[in-house]
Amino acid sequence: SHRIMLGPLVAAIDQGTSSTRFLVFNSKTAELLSHHQVEIKQSFPKEGWVEEDPKEILQSVYECMERTCEKLTQLNIDISNIKAIGVTNQRETTLVWDKETGEPLYNAIVWLDLRTQSTVERLINKTPGRNKNHLKHKTGLPISTYFSAVKLRWLMDNVDEVHQAVVSHRAMFGTVDSWLIWCLTGGKSGGVHCTDVTNASRTMLFNIHTMDWDPELCKCLYLLSFFFSCQKSGALSGIPISGCLGDQSAALVGQMCFQDGQAKNTYGTGCFLLRNTGVKPVMSEHGLLTTVAYKLGRDKPACYALEGSVAIAGAVVRWLQDNLGIIGSSEELEKLAASVGTSYGCYFVPAFSGLYAPYWEPSARGIICGLTQFTNKSHLAFAALEAVCFQTREILDAMNQDSGIPLTQLQVDGGMTSNKLLMQLQADILCIPVVKPSMPETTALGAAMAAGAAEGVSVWSLNPEDLSEVTSEKFEPQINPEESEFRYARWKKAVEKSMNWET
Ligand code: ADP
Repeated sequence: SHRIMLGPLVAAIDQGTSSTRFLVFNSKTAELLSHHQVEIKQSFPKEGWVEEDPKEILQSVYECMERTCEKLTQLNIDISNIKAIGVTNQRETTLVWDKETGEPLYNAIVWLDLRTQSTVERLINKTPGRNKNHLKHKTGLPISTYFSAVKLRWLMDNVDEVHQAVVSHRAMFGTVDSWLIWCLTGGKSGGVHCTDVTNASRTMLFNIHTMDWDPELCKCLYLLSFFFSCQKSGALSGIPISGCLGDQSAALVGQMCFQDGQAKNTYGTGCFLLRNTGVKPVMSEHGLLTTVAYKLGRDKPACYALEGSVAIAGAVVRWLQDNLGIIGSSEELEKLAASVGTSYGCYFVPAFSGLYAPYWEPSARGIICGLTQFTNKSHLAFAALEAVCFQTREILDAMNQDSGIPLTQLQVDGGMTSNKLLMQLQADILCIPVVKPSMPETTALGAAMAAGAAEGVSVWSLNPEDLSEVTSEKFEPQINPEESEFRYARWKKAVEKSMNWET
């Protein structure tokens, strides 16, 4: 059998909240050649708690790598053409493991977990004037349950194994990228303990101006820049892991938003709108985060982004499926919602993990309002999709106010964008076109591009002259702006109630 001749290939491990993927791209065309995906279980041991099993996460990575290699071999593609592997991951999710046994000391605490609410309140109470933005000038972040440092604090205070391991200097702390890279580079026999600046900027321990761990924020951590080889990954052993980006940064790169002012919105478990602000960190006046977007090379400057984070987007679809049982799969939601084409005045604020941007209100809780005798599950399905669009509208408004230059269209990606009704609703509610690339795996592409660039393999998409070849789908607004404003005003009222429903 003949082997297909290809240029160098680049690959990415994409470890998301709901699934893990391994993907291989042709660097000449940015075409996705093969991939494999494995779902990740989430457990909810108590109200507000969300955990994942670190070993299951690791196994899913190995399985995806193996299966993708098998598929490549079946396609007659030589695995040795892969020149670099990038890592991209769910951010903030926090792990602690024992460096001598290699065993996790607790489950991974997932980013949208709420158990640190009292830790956060205690921290805020200690600041002058009880100011949740007290650390923002250094971190770009409000003090919130969302970020890794408070999760680590909780683990040290509440899990005896973690406390013991910290005291005896056996504990290693990391986000998902750190855990995976440590394991892939040898684990307890010499694994490399590291992270990258985009993940670091979400710990609340990292100074985004000096680009270093901040001694005032933490005393015990240090950062390395890295180029390592896979040790324990079968057919892929020896291939360099030469890039790492948090998932939202990777999507920004994969969407080629390299210019100041360019933005993308990713619809996964949560929803994240990032706007590139160039080499200058811009502090938001409207409840957005300031985060490190990317730093592609040792001597390249860091670029920053303003970010609007929404905790619950695709997670509401899972909730309708697993908790209410009104749909059997996420694909069914679109059909159900489309069958009525309206929420019939029903508004659904899915504040399951409090509200993130622009409110940062951990005590908010979900509400469904505007119900009548007539309301049925189809209307609820529609209201759930609309909720994702309204939350994006709130972020976009904040972003436009901060930058003074309104976005004229929105580039989108992520698992939920396969829902065409959602995309149309989004264009209607934003009153600007929504543009979706035909290759949906932009997060993985971004990580593969970063890894390739570090190994001297430039990916097609990095050349601006090729940009015209990008094919995409465009959704134009179809309802009149008055109608859109009316619905949005109602949504705002519902949000107010979700924050004050107890009083
Ligand atoms: P993550 O990176 O957070 O794991 P993905 O980008 O893989 O997320 O997207 C998965 C999410 O998208 C899930 O929450 C799922 O419920 C949702 N989703 C997938 N397909 C659809 C669809 N057709 N309609 C609505 N939601 C969907």
